[in-house]
Amino acid sequence: MASYRDQAVVLRTHKLGEADRIITMLTPNHGLVRAVAKGVRRTASKFGARLEPFSHIDVMCFHGRSLDTITQVESIALYAPALSGELSSYQAASIMVETAAQLTEVEASAHQFHLLAGGLKALAGGLAPTGLIRDSYLLRALALSGWALNYDSCVVCGSRADLAYFSVAHGGVLCANCHKPGAVAVTKEVMLLLRALSRGDWQQTVNATQGEANQAAAIVAAHVKWQLERGLKSYSTVMH
Ligand SMILES: [Zn+2]
Repeated sequence: MASYRDQAVVLRTHKLGEADRIITMLTPNHGLVRAVAKGVRRTASKFGARLEPFSHIDVMCFHGRSLDTITQVESIALYAPALSGELSSYQAASIMVETAAQLTEVEASAHQFHLLAGGLKALAGGLAPTGLIRDSYLLRALALSGWALNYDSCVVCGSRADLAYFSVAHGGVLCANCHKPGAVAVTKEVMLLLRALSRGDWQQTVNATQGEANQAAAIVAAHVKWQLERGLKSYSTVMH
């Protein structure tokens, strides 16, 4: 079959020529797809606003020699209007789609698609505080790519007692005896918050203070940076 149909979340778009765009999207069954939307930048385009970033769509594409071409688009949910209303939501959504693009560049899965679509829906619907939805998405997306953090026992000695430090470089919590340079001291509440976020367990996050959410956010950001930079480095090693 020269053409295929799938759902997709639009991750980003690039201008191509006078009136076209290249749409980068994550699909459940065809992984990360880059396809041309012809004439999409004309005001009378048949695609309308459906190919904006963050849109959840049903799409039909025609296989091309280098790039596929989008022939038909139906909207399932357009999140851009809700997310663009507030800077923090827009920034969170941008971080989520950018991370999804990097994680699925080499290996995509239907799980990654559903996690992202669900995260954007939660963000647009205001299901929980913006930062918590972003961080929950990031922890779970990285875990799907094989980079789960350990919250329950010391990553060095396995102890479940005196868990007082967190190190993204070591992959999780450390007990007081196994403290390593670069590990940050964390309270039990922050540890529990990180674990709840990693499971999408919103009930357990409602009592978190802003200070705890901020510390968890810093750890999640460090985890993303650490894994994606290492990941990108390993991709470039493979390519040389
Ligand atoms: Zn230990």
